Amino acid sequence: MPIDADTEKFIKVIALKNSVEHDGKAQVDAVIAKFIGSKPELRSQIKALIPEIKAMVHEINAISVADQKLLLEELAPGETAAKKRTEQQLQLPQLEGAVHGKVVTRFPPEPNGYPHIGHAKAAIIDEEYAHLYAGRLILRFDDTNPLKEKLEYYDAIAEGLEWLGVKPDIVKNTSDDIDLLHNYGRKLIELDGAYVCTCSQNTIHDLRGKGLPCECRQDPAIALERVEKMFGDLYDQNEAIVRFKGDMADQNTAMRDPALFRIIEGEHPKLGNKVRVWPTYDFAAPIEDSIDGVTHALRTKEYELRNALYFAILERLKLRKPHLIEFSRLEFEGIPVSKRKIRPLIDNGTIKSWDDPRLPTLAAFRKRGFVPEAIRKFVLSLGFTLAETKPPFEALEAFNRKIIDPISPRLFFVKNPAEVRVQGAREMEVMLKNHPTDATLGTRKVKAGDLLYISGDDAANLKVGTEIRLIELFNIKITGVDLRNGALSIAAKVGDDEIRQSMPKVQWIAKNDIVEYKVLIPKELYIGEEYNTNSLEIARGFAESFVSRLKPDARVQFVRFGFCRIDDDQTAIMTHR
Ligand code: ATP
Ligand code: MG
Repeated sequence: MPIDADTEKFIKVIALKNSVEHDGKAQVDAVIAKFIGSKPELRSQIKALIPEIKAMVHEINAISVADQKLLLEELAPGETAAKKRTEQQLQLPQLEGAVHGKVVTRFPPEPNGYPHIGHAKAAIIDEEYAHLYAGRLILRFDDTNPLKEKLEYYDAIAEGLEWLGVKPDIVKNTSDDIDLLHNYGRKLIELDGAYVCTCSQNTIHDLRGKGLPCECRQDPAIALERVEKMFGDLYDQNEAIVRFKGDMADQNTAMRDPALFRIIEGEHPKLGNKVRVWPTYDFAAPIEDSIDGVTHALRTKEYELRNALYFAILERLKLRKPHLIEFSRLEFEGIPVSKRKIRPLIDNGTIKSWDDPRLPTLAAFRKRGFVPEAIRKFVLSLGFTLAETKPPFEALEAFNRKIIDPISPRLFFVKNPAEVRVQGAREMEVMLKNHPTDATLGTRKVKAGDLLYISGDDAANLKVGTEIRLIELFNIKITGVDLRNGALSIAAKVGDDEIRQSMPKVQWIAKNDIVEYKVLIPKELYIGEEYNTNSLEIARGFAESFVSRLKPDARVQFVRFGFCRIDDDQTAIMTHR
């Protein structure tokens, strides 16, 4: 029976979960039982599905537990971490006024760039709260500026969240509600809560500074006359804006008649040229939150001064008010998170793509070999502080290392290779373990003889008489160190076989086992306020030929070098040390 892609994926996930819980062997009966339990509506078709299920279980049982886990993480991100969820949720404080089953949160990114780790923080917290209270999460593309937004970015955000394992219950765009937003704008003017201002930008700026009203504000009759012209699209760009009637003398400058609508000419990714009058974030956010049924709107602390405006708009329109809650923005030292810092580097061509491994975008983290589960754990470990602390990047790396260490095969890579001639070494075949503790990751056979390579850095430390251990091979004693054509060349003889504490233990590659290989190493993107021109190091050298058997996306730990993600058959990207 032909089986649709969704059902196939669903069964695969069940089988993978079953197998990782049972030492890598899924059981057909258990998978069938679980399937019927979760999809009773398909019970009648189960007979026809059984051969498919059997084949899938067979296929899954044939691969290592480590690969099963990876595949599971790929198909159902977060599933392997699902058990730990409840533990993590406890770190989030209770939400004021939250009622079980009724909480609605929302994540409102503007589709004006690729999602980054800061968005991950916001989206994960929104989702965790929705889950904690058995509520719902809305993903709302906050798309009210046609000059900045692109379809590519909506897709990138959706993909980034999917990779993270954040599953919104509802997906919508602010622009879907443009007519409604216009109507609320008109209504607010009719209620004398807003007016159309035709002053120049300079005048507006000046009077705002001085805390003085302009003429447009004085006469409600003028505002009413201009309403039709504004929403009837009869003004030119920059000729008029709609402003909230706040208090021009308010201590909180956000209340000094901020803009609610402005005219922007440009092709909108969803609405084309149909609309010219666009709401600002200040207007769209409260209305959308209110009409979408959001109960708890979480946003970063820089919006704090705008909270009064958020509530004032809803108050005048007699709309329901959600709870507003602030949390701190996530930033790292040396890796600015904001799109404001990333975009110029992309626009001027310094950085070619949004998934460049130096960037803090989700696409880049993925490309470097981070697992979404680590990002979630890291974000939740930060808790819910308002303090603008910059956590060390190493904290995120530590979460990731803990997850990938047990599933990454160990291989050798030697950077800037130095030749080692070992006098008296017999040709021999050694069996190397791919992982020190997990035998399911297998072994590899390497033929080693009297010509080997070690890394240039290790070679540079050698002197005649030094004894070193070639890991899992034998000891050698250095008899000569030469510089030939700019590269070190070492002569040695085979030593004894005792492994002593004091000996340097170095990785090596056998002469006939070489793949020319490079590793991209992302470094800090900025030093202070300056772009770091050395932010991408390329380490070149030799890897063992076994590396060719790893497919793109596979993980590896190059011994004494670092964890990497395989990018192509000659390139890996360093995840972290
Ligand atoms: P950027 O400065 O990168 O453009 P933004 O705040 O303009 O960020 P939006 O797309 O408008 O980006 O943000 C969507 C949501 O993500 C908002 O609720 C915002 O508060 C949150 N967010 C953005 N950056 C961070 C960050 N660094 N840390 C935590 N949350 C963030
Ligand atoms: Mg923004």
